[in-house]
Amino acid sequence: MIRKLIGRMFRRGVAEPPAVRRHATRYRGSELGIHRTELSSAAQRTCETLQKAGFHAWIVGGGVRDLLLGLRPKDFDIATDATPQQVNKLFRRSRVIGRRFQIVHVMFGREVIEVSTYRALSTDSNTDEHGRVLHDNEWGTQEEDAVRRDFTINALYYDPIGDAILDYHDGVRDLQARTLRMIGDPASRYREDPVRMLRVARFAAKLGFTVEPRTRAPIAELAPLVHNIPSSRLFDEMLKLLLCGHALDALGELRNEGLHHGLLPLLDVILEQPAGERFVSAALASTDARVADGRPVSPGFLFATLLWQQVRVRWEAAAAKGEHSIPALMQAIDDALDDQADQLAIQKRFVSDMREIWSLQPRLERRNGQAPYRLLEHIRFRAAYDFMLLRCEVGEVDQELGAWWSAFIDADGEGRAALVTGAPKSGPAAKRKGRGGPRRRGRRGATAGGDSGGDSGSPPA
Ligand code: ATP
Ligand code: MG
Repeated sequence: MIRKLIGRMFRRGVAEPPAVRRHATRYRGSELGIHRTELSSAAQRTCETLQKAGFHAWIVGGGVRDLLLGLRPKDFDIATDATPQQVNKLFRRSRVIGRRFQIVHVMFGREVIEVSTYRALSTDSNTDEHGRVLHDNEWGTQEEDAVRRDFTINALYYDPIGDAILDYHDGVRDLQARTLRMIGDPASRYREDPVRMLRVARFAAKLGFTVEPRTRAPIAELAPLVHNIPSSRLFDEMLKLLLCGHALDALGELRNEGLHHGLLPLLDVILEQPAGERFVSAALASTDARVADGRPVSPGFLFATLLWQQVRVRWEAAAAKGEHSIPALMQAIDDALDDQADQLAIQKRFVSDMREIWSLQPRLERRNGQAPYRLLEHIRFRAAYDFMLLRCEVGEVDQELGAWWSAFIDADGEGRAALVTGAPKSGPAAKRKGRGGPRRRGRRGATAGGDSGGDSGSPPA
């Protein structure tokens, strides 16, 4: 219903397709400072194999863009005139994926090279009532492929073997001026695919580029179209945004553009609440730091941090009514997950990580007997512990608890035994400093039994 209304609000006449440019400016890669040796050997080999078989093979998108900027590309995408089936035949370890538009994943060890066939421009009959492209599975020429891409800086083609860069839309000029510019008419391009508005926020933050005014202007009005994005795509794009290494800035961009409404309940509610924001900010800052160091970030952990306030608020409310801490936490988790499921389809495997990270929180407060040893063996212990450290950082639980576990992890057998002996008999209830609201100490009786026990907990109740 809401989607229909939004659709009507934003319905427009048929969008003008962007003009295909037949002419590309041609550069030598070396003249712009890039060399084939900067590509992964997997990317080089894929290009070679395709070209030897008589097909085009150009590195496109982030791979070229980041190399030209002196950044380390996340991965390499290749555009070709070979059909997915032709590509598939050339590489033993490859598979055709995708329904809407087939692409081929070529595998080299753990590296995956994504090979896509040039796409044709979409036609009007392929869009829904507000201009969103539904089917665009026709193959086209390189010129058409270029004009379909989102930003000028993402539409550069690099042939590492011929040392050539083709630039149809003045991407090199925009790279040099550090400008993010949409190809074609920005408003039509957002209607075609509202995900592009989120991409503006991501690239502006990741690259520190200025968004060209015409590219930025329509977003304020068209922001509600993000509700039309199918939830699985929204999830993928949010994940890219959160893992781009500049998540704090990117969320700031989203908020400035009014794009955060409805993406995650947390972004709606929490970003406006200073306490919640501190937790989210601490989580994102630690994620950004991990990305900068090249350490892996687990999406389950990330979403557990982002949705934590939803869980915590409910948990506290139930505990304030006198409900037992553990079932109250479980119910709070179910409710929080239900709440966001419609909008953002978090994949099941990540949801189960989130549940575990959350439900281990009270267990971290049990430090007597065998409990801490057992917890240490838990497959999700490390994530739960990292999560608790964030809670310590914002004052949601006592720093002492975090310090105790850090010491316990590092200690040898004797040291551990001493720490267990010296630990408070019941967990030091979660301590929420500087925040109002009900706060009761854990009731010993309530924690009895239940492996997940230790009531003290947080929600502190
Ligand atoms: P990253 O380094 O984050 O992967 P990227 O530019 O490679 O950045 P991808 O999402 O991997 O981003 O997309 C690869 C390329 O496909 C883009 O550079 C762009 O040319 C094109 N593209 C991706 N999504 C869209 C879209 N929604 N509309 C138009 N073109 C797109
Ligand atoms: Mg990419």
